[in-house]
Amino acid sequence: MWEKKDFMPGGELQRLQLSRLKKSVIYAYENVPFYRKRLQESSVKPEHIQTLGDITLLPFTTKEDMRQNYPYGLFAVPMTEIVRLHASSGTTGRPVVMGYTRKDLDDWSEQVARICLMAGVNKDDIAQISFGYGLFTGGFGLHYGLEKVGATIVPFSSGNTERQLMLMRDFGTSVLVSTPSFALYMAEVAEDRGEDPAGYGLRLGLFGGEPCSESMREEIEKKWGLKATLNYGLTEIVGPGVSGECRGSAGMHICEDHFYPEIIDPLSGEPLPHGQEGEIVFTTLSKEGVPVLRYRTGDITSLLTEPCPCGRTVLRMNYITGRTDDMLIVKGVNIFPSQVEDVLSGVSEVSPYYQLVVHREKDYIKDLEIQVELTGESFTDSFQELEKIEQKISNILKAALSITLKVRLMEPRSLERTTGKAKRIIEKDQAAG
Ligand code: ADP
Ligand code: ZN
Repeated sequence: MWEKKDFMPGGELQRLQLSRLKKSVIYAYENVPFYRKRLQESSVKPEHIQTLGDITLLPFTTKEDMRQNYPYGLFAVPMTEIVRLHASSGTTGRPVVMGYTRKDLDDWSEQVARICLMAGVNKDDIAQISFGYGLFTGGFGLHYGLEKVGATIVPFSSGNTERQLMLMRDFGTSVLVSTPSFALYMAEVAEDRGEDPAGYGLRLGLFGGEPCSESMREEIEKKWGLKATLNYGLTEIVGPGVSGECRGSAGMHICEDHFYPEIIDPLSGEPLPHGQEGEIVFTTLSKEGVPVLRYRTGDITSLLTEPCPCGRTVLRMNYITGRTDDMLIVKGVNIFPSQVEDVLSGVSEVSPYYQLVVHREKDYIKDLEIQVELTGESFTDSFQELEKIEQKISNILKAALSITLKVRLMEPRSLERTTGKAKRIIEKDQAAG
């Protein structure tokens, strides 16, 4: 039964991973010309993979490889076998397209069901899905997983916040599925209507698609009076369902029998030991439509090896601290939005709404301005007061990042809200004011 797969005894899990890995490499080699060529270029033959450690012999696959093979270049089966397509948003170029066979879809709903179950969803729950239904993997991914668990699904999709709230109340929604940003925004809209979000009766949140700092999680939990759980996934691998939190809130359990994780040094590509922070790389162990070998996600995290009190034997990954694409190099210092967020979360005068505004000159970043909203209570007309807060934030940033950054306090509710993923980095021309 699928519910048991997170509890496989150690040795058994590794044996399953190894036999699946060997099969997947042969499968990709035989059915995807791209992989055959890549392996041949690095003189690797599928039979060289004899242990799990041998995975490091395989070359990496990158987002660029996926884009260059747009749309169907990495598919391992004829289109007659593909029953669904999804794609990532592709804001920075061609989208990445994922194709699923019927078995892939069955596996995917099982993976998501495991994530839902470990978060504590049950048959009595009414789960409102506020992820977009469409090419984005979020909506449909959670939909079929929750259905497998047996919850009652409200397939709302994203947007239309007022109506979301109305139905949430009328239908007695107990579980909210959304990005953390949207959960926070919905609470804000409820408050604007003079309501207490905690009165809505949500008991559990399944949040994913973007990073969520501890302070943001606390804020969401406090406002809605729910338990927030995080889950992680990406289109290039499958969508949501790659990993998720159990009730212990100490990292996200990976569906390790389907996705083999590694951590590498993002600069050198060298494998890093468990526990060390680096870029997470995944190899799919069971996919038919689009098998993926050693995909570089660009997401920075670490693998946690401590056994989890919940008894699940699959590894956990830590929360994502940043994406390599989101790293800004300012005056020689590497900065991730999450580092800035960490600092801001310790400042009581400001809200969780912030943006990093990048001023570019030719090909380098000349300046970085941190725009952050004041809370309603700390908003004031006193120039002196504002300057004091700005200075305080700037000082803490300097201590944390060893660089002086401009801080600009914004009026409450002045930064853009989102019904999907928050945009933390913006170019100067697109910034407000
Ligand atoms: P897009 O690239 O268009 O955002 P996806 O929806 O496939 O497409 O997004 C996957 C990415 O979203 C991941 O690579 C990761 O950076 C981010 N992500 C997803 N879940 C989480 C999470 N729980 N915490 C942090 N980042 C996440
Ligand atoms: Zn656990």
